[in-house]
Amino acid sequence: MIPAASFAGKRVSLFGLGGSGIATARALIAGGADVLAWDDNPDSVAKAAATGIATADLRGADWAKFSAFVLSPGVPLTHPKPHWTVELARGSGVEIIGDIELFCRERMLSAPTSPFIAITGTNGKSTTTALTAHILKAAGRDTQMGGNIGRAVMTLDQPEPDRHYVVECSSYQIDLAPSINPTAGILLNLTPDHLDRHGTMQHYAAIKERLVAGSETAIVGIDDSWCAQIAERLERAGRHVIRISKRLPLTDGYFADGSDLMEAVHGRYSRVAFLEGIGSLRGQHNAQNALAAVAACLKVGLELGEIQSGLESFPGLAHRMEQVGRKDHVLFINDSKATNADAAAPALSSFARIYWIAGGLPKEGGIEPLRGFFPRIAKAYLIGEAAPAFSATLGEAVPYEISGTLAAAVEHAALDAAKDDSGEAVVLLSPACASFDQFKNFEVRGEAFRQAANAIEGVKLIGGAR
Ligand code: ADP
Repeated sequence: MIPAASFAGKRVSLFGLGGSGIATARALIAGGADVLAWDDNPDSVAKAAATGIATADLRGADWAKFSAFVLSPGVPLTHPKPHWTVELARGSGVEIIGDIELFCRERMLSAPTSPFIAITGTNGKSTTTALTAHILKAAGRDTQMGGNIGRAVMTLDQPEPDRHYVVECSSYQIDLAPSINPTAGILLNLTPDHLDRHGTMQHYAAIKERLVAGSETAIVGIDDSWCAQIAERLERAGRHVIRISKRLPLTDGYFADGSDLMEAVHGRYSRVAFLEGIGSLRGQHNAQNALAAVAACLKVGLELGEIQSGLESFPGLAHRMEQVGRKDHVLFINDSKATNADAAAPALSSFARIYWIAGGLPKEGGIEPLRGFFPRIAKAYLIGEAAPAFSATLGEAVPYEISGTLAAAVEHAALDAAKDDSGEAVVLLSPACASFDQFKNFEVRGEAFRQAANAIEGVKLIGGAR
């Protein structure tokens, strides 16, 4: 745990007592702060109180006495409307911060030179965070990973000069971290997302920009116009910017040329790494993630050989294009995290001959945006509530069956793929739907797929993300 010494002897209010909220309260208390915490959910309050955290309804608190208000990132700061605690804090002029801000302040107090890599973007945050941390660890660096992935940031080990921090940041967390100042800040990409919580795309992009604007080196994926503009703006402001592109050769920066990762210096190119044969990093989207990780690892002084061997041993993350088994020419891929059409697109674009398991609780727009990938789909196996709508979209374009359940879909898809004699065939769960009609969450759905695939006679488990 990182005791939050920056608030020693001060009164701090805190709202949101989920896992990370409790961890943050404990870090503040360990640092000597006097914390008063609350949550709208009585069970969460009771749980926190049972661990010795002082709780009280903050409506009745004397806000003038608080030095800061720590808000959980899950609670609205601005949209659709500020939470009542935010109104109270603002009314009394109390600064509103989150756990990432506390971490940044502690790092500045105790080990300001410790390498700190912060990662954000609409898609690929977790993969890039896990990959960067993996490469650093594999190279023998003392590495702590957390934030929006895995451990809450204040539960990590205390900053020390040679300790590396790799921290995934959601836009909500950046919004609550005004002094975020990583050694290398990564902004992967920007597409409309969470606009219910951010109002407009402009506002969402402005928040994400703050992470790279505060960085010693800003690593920016310039394949979308929002990020390209951010890179320009930062450079004009005199910041050190490294551009990355998964598809365009750049004059300066890092770009992907097929599966080769290239460095460009004033228009001269050299290969810095390659992804050929790395099953956990298939697809153009992963080239973007890998380029960002490579740029960050070079920034903190890793050698090219160390980076390549880290890329090659990366197990991948569970439920994101995760290889779960193989039988002869049939590969089983679990992409259960793909809960909408946009998220399913990378997997569908990464394979040529697909036996596609899709469906669940449908999202607006259905699978119409995926029409361009239909020629790659040998057959679709539809499950859950979305099956009728998806079958209407597939129409004559793609052979399909309504399998109903995931178990039936896996069984039928495996049988059909086994008979395919045109090279590698992929049984792919990339549902383009939420899971809640048939499963508790996407993780449980992915586990069910893994088990069904591995129950098929002759399927060999592929070691990986678990
Ligand atoms: P996040 O943490 O931002 O949600 P993940 O790394 O968990 O991202 O990946 C979630 C899904 O997003 C993946 O299954 C994949 O479909 C897609 N994805 C991953 N990386 C990228 C990327 N760089 N660009 C676009 N989509 C991506």
